[in-house]
Amino acid sequence: MDRYKRQKARMVETQLAARGIKDPRVLKAMTTVPRHLFVDEGLIDQAYNDNPLPIGEHQTISQPYIVALMTQALELKGRERILEIGTGSGYQAAILAGLVDRVFSVERIASLATRARKILDQLNCYNVAIRVGDGSFGWKEEAPFDGIVTTAAAPAIPQYLLEQLVPGGKLIIPVGGRDIQDLIKITRNSADINDIKKESLCGCRFVSLIGKSGWSE
Ligand code: SAM
Repeated sequence: MDRYKRQKARMVETQLAARGIKDPRVLKAMTTVPRHLFVDEGLIDQAYNDNPLPIGEHQTISQPYIVALMTQALELKGRERILEIGTGSGYQAAILAGLVDRVFSVERIASLATRARKILDQLNCYNVAIRVGDGSFGWKEEAPFDGIVTTAAAPAIPQYLLEQLVPGGKLIIPVGGRDIQDLIKITRNSADINDIKKESLCGCRFVSLIGKSGWSE
């Protein structure tokens, strides 16, 4: 018996479905993946609350609604190769793992990447590859991707990431200042990386993307 089953179901109903998350595959993934495994032991009772939580190294696991919103915005069908920038706890990667063919995730802090790898292995998420480094360059060797989700905030849209999207691919990224940003969905329309469609999803507050196409430390 999953003692968190009721908390998960309530989270999905009151935080996600009630706020307009409709994709049944996303709702199912959010109902299935045990978020409490990705948070620090002392915060387990808060794992399904409506807010981000600290995961150490001054980083956070994102609010469940934001994870669902970003995942839904990728418009996944099941066969995609997705790049995530900012593995953090590994929770977003675990949600994606059940919805697509392959997940590539980059994290700049090695200790977080190691911890995420352990939990993902425990959950048999073997279709997730993690690399330690500056994800603002993307992951050139594995490109192109059908979708890219950046879970840290950039000052502007990183060109490296647009270049690594297939035509028709989507980049979901918080863009703005260091404190508050706009969560943006960019669709690359064609081979020309300037041929894009931009939509704003909501205001948000993410930790900073630190790196070449991000902020300095
Ligand atoms: N997706 C994560 C999860 O599900 O727990 C939440 C990630 S947290 C909000 C943002 C993460 O981005 C942090 O772990 C941070 O170290 C990482 N990060 C920041 N800049 C980065 C960069 N240039 N490359 C890779 N990771 C980066």
